[in-house]
Amino acid sequence: MLRRSVIVVGAGLVGALWARLLAQRGHRVTLIERRPDLRCTDIPGGRSINLAVSDRGWRGLRLAGLEERVRPFALPMEGRMIHDRAATTHFQPYGKPGQAIYSFHRRRLNELLLTAVQECPNTQLLFEHRCIDVDLDVPAVIVETPAGELRRLDAEAVFGVDGAYSAVRSRLQHLEGFSYCQEYLDYGYKELTLPPTAGGVWALEPRALHIWPRRSFMLIALPNPDRSFTCTLFFPLEGELSFAALRTEADVRAFFQSEFPDVVPLMPRLTEEFFSNPTGSLLTIRCFPWSYDGKVLLLGDAAHAIVPFYGQGMNAGFEDCVLLLDFLQHYPDDWATAFRAFERFRKPHADAIAQLALENFVEMRDKVADPRFLLRKRLEQYLADHYPDRFIPLYTMVTFSHIPYAEALRRGQIQDRILDTLMTQTETETDWENPRLQQLMVELVVELEPYNLNSLSGAAPE
Ligand SMILES: Cc1cc2nc3c(=O)[nH]c(=O)nc-3n(C[C@H](O)[C@H](O)[C@H](O)COP(=O)(O)OP(=O)(O)OC[C@H]3O[C@@H](n4cnc5c(N)ncnc54)[C@H](O)[C@@H]3O)c2cc1C
Repeated sequence: MLRRSVIVVGAGLVGALWARLLAQRGHRVTLIERRPDLRCTDIPGGRSINLAVSDRGWRGLRLAGLEERVRPFALPMEGRMIHDRAATTHFQPYGKPGQAIYSFHRRRLNELLLTAVQECPNTQLLFEHRCIDVDLDVPAVIVETPAGELRRLDAEAVFGVDGAYSAVRSRLQHLEGFSYCQEYLDYGYKELTLPPTAGGVWALEPRALHIWPRRSFMLIALPNPDRSFTCTLFFPLEGELSFAALRTEADVRAFFQSEFPDVVPLMPRLTEEFFSNPTGSLLTIRCFPWSYDGKVLLLGDAAHAIVPFYGQGMNAGFEDCVLLLDFLQHYPDDWATAFRAFERFRKPHADAIAQLALENFVEMRDKVADPRFLLRKRLEQYLADHYPDRFIPLYTMVTFSHIPYAEALRRGQIQDRILDTLMTQTETETDWENPRLQQLMVELVVELEPYNLNSLSGAAPE
């Protein structure tokens, strides 16, 4: 395989992983980042304090030889802990015993990845270098240096991994035939800290992702290694109950007291943080094509930013890297063909996870507290236990497997129809033992062709 000189724009999570993977394969990598080096500054580490890593993300880390290094910093969350208004909690496991998603401190993970890039020979990291333009045909990146000067950096390929507001993508947007769609939710999010107790222990169960579902909005909390939790309020931007409507400390306190009474005593800096922490926005970006002539390619959020409700944005970006490596291996001397084959293969899956993420917001904020929905979840698990090679819960397919996202979406839609039919004949769990319903289950599940959950399908080019 030819060793190339490449530029990776953006040293966020996906850019740093991609730079490491390329450098490990002998390419000469220049990684450009507009922020200062996270490892020696106090600037915020990115959009959320922590995030959930699941199987697709672990696969990328493993491929980069980093699984063992990052695992000590990962906190397993084995299910959802639902908090109702009466402060009663219910635990819903995410999968089988032993299956978990992992809470990671975003900044810590990014720091580890940067160090892992730096360890590779033939890498150069340029911090405080902002990409302001790309010359697609060379290709070359025009950066603004810390001294405010413009510098032009040539390479054989440029990877735009510079996030949802990508400068590399802006250049592609000038091309005829480039489709682009950016969709904001009318919700925002705010992060708040739930510190350890005065005795230094976890204030909530640490092995769970906590959710306070309140139909039109929700609060969630993920554990951090210092025994705090980061809570995130997903809330309408405007309206009667909204960020705009909470104007004073008294408004915030009254709102939290009525909706989340169990967390108020656990958040000593609630009102202070509510007004000092920024309100983040939530958007989906769809665009195509992602590449230009084998010279430029978008990856991660730059190609497909999604809302965070399936915890898959970074995981999907890491999966981009894993799959792209396969395509580069398949067409080692022809990156134009590799890039085109990759983007054609990957785009439907990026669209599918974007759709699933939007749909999961409704499930998390509205349905998880509904008794009929919980019965339906148990029916889903019942079918998964009885027909394990055919009926695989959607959450399992997305989170604990490598089934391509569009295939997970398609099978999930069939499964939904099966559950709809069976739920019309279900009052309680004992109904499922009824021979008539048993027979109906057999007839319905054959529509789902058998699937081997352990397969890494989607990884290889055709
Ligand atoms: C509230 C919230 C919670 C989330 N939770 C999860 C989760 O649980 N699990 C999950 O998988 N995903 C989650 N995500 C999504 C995840 O954060 C993103 O998908 C992921 O960060 C994308 O990584 P990236 O490297 O593509 O982009 P980014 O993380 O945005 O990194 C882009 C990098 O490029 C740099 N950059 C930007 N412009 C330039 C420029 N012009 N020149 C040079 N450098 C530039 C930026 O400074 C940044 O370092 C969440 C997102 C949000 C908002």
